[in-house]
Amino acid sequence: MSVKQNILQIQSDISLALTRRQPGGNFVSEDVKIIAVTKNHPIEKMIEALDAGIHIVGENRVQEAKMKYDQMNVEKRLSWHLVGHLQTNKAKQAVEMFDLIHSVDSERLALAINNAAEKVDKRQDILVQINVSEEDSKHGIVPALKETAEFAVFISQLKNLKLCGLMTMAPFYDNAEEARPVFKELKRLFDGLVLMNIPNTELKWLSMGMTHDYIVAIEEGANMVRIGTGIFGVR
Ligand SMILES: *Cc1c(COP(=O)(O)O)cnc(C)c1O
Repeated sequence: MSVKQNILQIQSDISLALTRRQPGGNFVSEDVKIIAVTKNHPIEKMIEALDAGIHIVGENRVQEAKMKYDQMNVEKRLSWHLVGHLQTNKAKQAVEMFDLIHSVDSERLALAINNAAEKVDKRQDILVQINVSEEDSKHGIVPALKETAEFAVFISQLKNLKLCGLMTMAPFYDNAEEARPVFKELKRLFDGLVLMNIPNTELKWLSMGMTHDYIVAIEEGANMVRIGTGIFGVR
């Protein structure tokens, strides 16, 4: 299937998943944003996605993103998100390119992004990554409301950051249904955080769900899904 056909299929699956979403207790928008994850795919593919109605691309590595960003700079219609892990020494470049950084997982990194953003007079939108499944191979802070709230308060005191929500990656299961408790847990942490009314914080994005599990994630409240393979094929 073409990139365009894949996107149409995903959009229709999203609409169906939304009809199965549990009503009540939802603080997040009903409108689900598709982040087209373009890591390891050339900019030709990015343009195909753009022409098919995608306006947010997700990249994993700053270096790869920078190469594409410089070539695509004319494409003002595109918004760039960083979905992969960020090293503090790349914070400056990240702040220059990305409208949203999904992967903030330490005070040290938050400080580095805040410093870089201050230098260019930007308020950088970020998400906190939570390692809900607590796998060693995954980044993110521990999945407890206390730690999440402490980190959110820390971020709220940094003037050039704006915390906009939470992100997680579920483990890969053959049956996506097994990822459901992971998504439920992130939504629970999100709702807990919303109730705390932390100042300078605007919680609106719940970034969870990838190609093999985004339908389950949306049923559990995701309003940003990060899809690579499902749009562009196997890397
Ligand atoms: C690669 C990646 C995705 C997309 O994964 P697919 O399975 O190809 O949809 C989403 N989020 C992150 C953080 C990734 O690294």
